[in-house]
Amino acid sequence: MAIAASTSSADRLSSYNPATHELLGTVPIHGAAEVDAAVARARTAADSWGALSFEARGRELTAFRKALAAHTDELADLLHRENGKPELEALVEIMMALGHVQHATACAEAALAPRRVSAGMLANFRATISYHPLGVIGVIGPWNYPLFTPMGSIAYALAAGNAVVWKPSELTPLIAVKVAEIAARAFALTDLLQVVTGAGPTGAALARSAVDKIAFTGSAATGRRVMMAAAERLTPVLLELGGKDPMIVADDADLAKAAEACVYGALTNAGQACISVERVYVADAVHDRFVDEVVKQVRALKVGGDDGHLGAMTSEAQVAIVRDHLEDAVAKGARVLTGGPGAISGGYIQPTVLTGVDHRMKVMSDETFGPVIPIKRVGSLDEAVRLANDSKYGLGSTVFAGKGARALAARLRAGMTSINSVMGFAGIPSLPFGGIGDSGFGRIHGDEGVREFTRVKSTAEQVMAIPLNMMTFRQPKEMPGRLRAMIKQLYGDGVVAKAGDWLRKLRG
Ligand code: NAD
Repeated sequence: MAIAASTSSADRLSSYNPATHELLGTVPIHGAAEVDAAVARARTAADSWGALSFEARGRELTAFRKALAAHTDELADLLHRENGKPELEALVEIMMALGHVQHATACAEAALAPRRVSAGMLANFRATISYHPLGVIGVIGPWNYPLFTPMGSIAYALAAGNAVVWKPSELTPLIAVKVAEIAARAFALTDLLQVVTGAGPTGAALARSAVDKIAFTGSAATGRRVMMAAAERLTPVLLELGGKDPMIVADDADLAKAAEACVYGALTNAGQACISVERVYVADAVHDRFVDEVVKQVRALKVGGDDGHLGAMTSEAQVAIVRDHLEDAVAKGARVLTGGPGAISGGYIQPTVLTGVDHRMKVMSDETFGPVIPIKRVGSLDEAVRLANDSKYGLGSTVFAGKGARALAARLRAGMTSINSVMGFAGIPSLPFGGIGDSGFGRIHGDEGVREFTRVKSTAEQVMAIPLNMMTFRQPKEMPGRLRAMIKQLYGDGVVAKAGDWLRKLRG
């Protein structure tokens, strides 16, 4: 059974269309007992799935991917109606999610291939590192990219040989239920990918359950609660949290491209992306021209409607946060060039460009998660880097520059940087995705993303005996003297140590 059954039909969660408030459907609210039962079923599935070859798992994952692709229209429609994003953005999300199912399937075997490493001093040993599935992974997801974001954990966890119990956001449960139905038909083991539904308490029950790892995506505040709950069983956690991604525009950047990328990076999904461009630092010499171009492009965007560039915000709570940030910025002296707090109407927010901003304002320090572009003039690139790094978050970042672009990117304290593009790192499945600081830790996507869902095992196999065996109490009495000489030879000023230093230098 792919969707854990609720014992009480009265306990149901409703999902609404944020643009029309139409009721889209209801799902069960699962309690701790139902979550634990789903995890127990997943463990049985994990035992069989983990024992399969990569090839056999790959065949089923490919069938799953193809089944998802066959349901593109239905999935896009659900994403559009449940999350509020325009159809085009829903299709982009599906495409990116399926890209990860494909990549995880293709890269798992090589990423998890056992590796022989040097045995160092113990040259008579064969030293091997191998990777093994953890068992059951609990995935807790957010509402902003309700398919792409959890799939970044689910696909890699499955490809590494684990079963998954997924708790989607209470704002977007229907898309998860649909995926679970598709999975139940695509996989031979119907409990391989299960969905449990409900709000925070259901997520908390999953974090406290007997899963082998929790992959959480959401806010830093909830991430802390998840980590505390997981600590009860010492369950490892992967935390993909929020961001306050900076963009730097140098005076030798291609301004037209930088402005276009800024507008897209800040406003796609109505700014509700963890890797949205949330603040922009622009070199003094090009600031005014850049701002003019951004404002011109923003004013040409359409909000709402079937052909809109920006859809409805997914929740009223998120609208309230954006309003609060805008009012705070204006009260502290920011200039509104287009949009602004007065341009919020119900669930729709006109994209807003602000100048004259500083780090005392929430719009420059806290995650806004809305269609807002605060632009700050900087006197030098050093100042831009200092301000960009002045954040508790460290998820994505963007650099638009000419010849110094790579050096600039290297100075940014962030998990990911795009040079002369926005969000490029998210579209390349082989690049690990994740942050530092309040943006969390651990990585999804790429080889690191597969290994994240495994336990590492080290094996030391003695392949031949040598006269000097230190792992025994039966030592000759001259052993201490030999060891003293060896320590000096190997690690001190002895000839062997000097030869080693010389060789390392030679290798660079
Ligand atoms: P949220 O923290 O409110 O909720 C995330 C999930 O946690 C939901 O499923 C929710 O039901 C569940 N939850 C709530 N309380 C819980 C508890 N005590 N224990 C366990 N689970 C609990 O986040 P959100 O508002 O759904 O998502 C928006 C946030 O997610 C933003 O901060 C955004 O930046 C972040 N995000 C990060 C990434 C990333 O990859 N780094 C991707 C997308 C979104």
